[in-house]
Amino acid sequence: MHYSQQFSGNDYASSKVRNSGAVLTGHFGIEEDPEMHSEFYIDKATLFSEPQTVFSLGRQLKDRLLNPDDIEVIVAPPPFGLFVALPLGIEMSCRVVHIDEHQNKLFVRRGSRRLIDGRKVLAVDSISISGGKLQTVSKLIETLGGEVVERAVLIDRGASHPAYATMNNRPTSLLRANLRILPRSECPGCIAGIKLSNEFGFASKRHGMMVEDSL
Ligand SMILES: [Zn+2]
Repeated sequence: MHYSQQFSGNDYASSKVRNSGAVLTGHFGIEEDPEMHSEFYIDKATLFSEPQTVFSLGRQLKDRLLNPDDIEVIVAPPPFGLFVALPLGIEMSCRVVHIDEHQNKLFVRRGSRRLIDGRKVLAVDSISISGGKLQTVSKLIETLGGEVVERAVLIDRGASHPAYATMNNRPTSLLRANLRILPRSECPGCIAGIKLSNEFGFASKRHGMMVEDSL
């Protein structure tokens, strides 16, 4: 695949992401679905380490929204949703509410509830494959009395997933990734007997490194 074909939707954003060094090639497991593998990995830690890139991408997402003037508050989940929500909130002059995560459960702080109750809400995340996290976020917002008028992500990776690409109601996105995701049985890396990369990903899961608090 030619590098210029890895993403579609916005040429400027596409070149920014490609040049960030965040798109890696190798043999990777998909965190959201352990049965699926890919030759490509988008390393969020690298992508979101450059403030200029992060802010220019986040601000551009506004142009993709269906009804940006209707939105009263942007709500974003960890770990990287806030990196998109903050520049977007500046561009749209609206509040941003951060969702916390503890032991794989999403929750909001007490002070956030009144910021969501009765408001029209945009739910935003960084990169989505199945859209599952944004669905959970939407449920949480509705439980708190907010109305989710739109869901949006910077990069929609589900476009390259055989099951998710055909799902209705996909989130609005700045970029659609054409980075192939395959079942393990069809994965070229597995067929060639190549070990899965464990250099990137979530520190608290099977990848990466946990550093104990020594204080
Ligand atoms: Zn594989």
